[in-house]
Amino acid sequence: TWETDESVILSAPPEIKARLSANENPFGPSAKARKAIQDAIADSYRYPFTVGRELATKIATYEGVQPMQIMLGAGSSPLLLAAAMYFSKEGGSIITGDPSYHDLAEKAAQFKANIIKVPLTVDYTLDLDAMEKAITADTKLIYICNPNNPTATVLDTARLKGFCERVSPKVPIFIDEAYIDYLDDPKGASMMDAVRQGQNVIIARTFSKLYGFAGLRVGYAVAPTAIILALNQYSTGGMSISATSIQAANATYLDMEYLNEAKAKTVASKKFLYELLEKEGYTWIPSSANFVMFPIKMEAGKFSNEMMKRGVSIRTWRFVGKDWCRISLGTMDEMQEFAKAFKEIS
Ligand code: PLP
Repeated sequence: TWETDESVILSAPPEIKARLSANENPFGPSAKARKAIQDAIADSYRYPFTVGRELATKIATYEGVQPMQIMLGAGSSPLLLAAAMYFSKEGGSIITGDPSYHDLAEKAAQFKANIIKVPLTVDYTLDLDAMEKAITADTKLIYICNPNNPTATVLDTARLKGFCERVSPKVPIFIDEAYIDYLDDPKGASMMDAVRQGQNVIIARTFSKLYGFAGLRVGYAVAPTAIILALNQYSTGGMSISATSIQAANATYLDMEYLNEAKAKTVASKKFLYELLEKEGYTWIPSSANFVMFPIKMEAGKFSNEMMKRGVSIRTWRFVGKDWCRISLGTMDEMQEFAKAFKEIS
């Protein structure tokens, strides 16, 4: 696979009209989160121990695990990094999808891990059977991104449950649920049950997506206590998050009214995009997240440059012999900007 250089896309020029390249939620953060940040400023001379414990306890209570099983991070990236370091320190291999979210595998490769990339199925989902077959005595970790970035496809819950039951006694499984909140039934699709049952499963979540906290930086991992203690050696945990951001998370965690509204707006932007693609004669991979992947009819690098010239940032990939655009679902105004630019060049 091949993808556009992130630094080029993310350092979008100031005249950017639509930033549809980083899978952010343009409708966040919620009013409650904004107010909590203002209220928390006065107390922000204090280290965030107490407020961090409050957040971990809230999450643990909702998920039916012990607070010790929650590891906080400044977004989920530091938690992916902690896992990359811990599971690659003695060499061995890490199995991931291709394409899938690159971060954990890329970091692990900087240490001692050999990365085994398993192509997706014909319907662009992670190929669980092939990933299971790729396990050897050398395998240290399997990384499952569900829903998968960049394809926005989701795994069948029963199949993933079966996979965790069979595979986790042999190899730990890291399940990145960054986009799980976008599903109709996040709780039903999550593998948190596996953690509750004490399986060798680590779940990463983030407030960066549906909660709209990408710049505020709050994430967490949930795992059996022994794994959390091991990962803690490679992280500064909740100490790396500002108290203001933690208080924003405390104020908005499980705020269903806000979450459902943001989700509905994302679905409206998705419907707009599907209609546009249909009208312009394009296909797409049905999306279970806040971004959509579709094959383009132009060389990937050229496509992203042409879009960027028109003030629209997107990401491109090349895999299975095709060039693809991944577009993050923005506000309706941003989607209109995309439509205008897209019609000009397609
Ligand atoms: N996991 C996945 C699948 C992602 O797509 C991203 C960011 O795009 C992250 C993790 C990291 O996000 P953050 O550090 O903001 O939680």
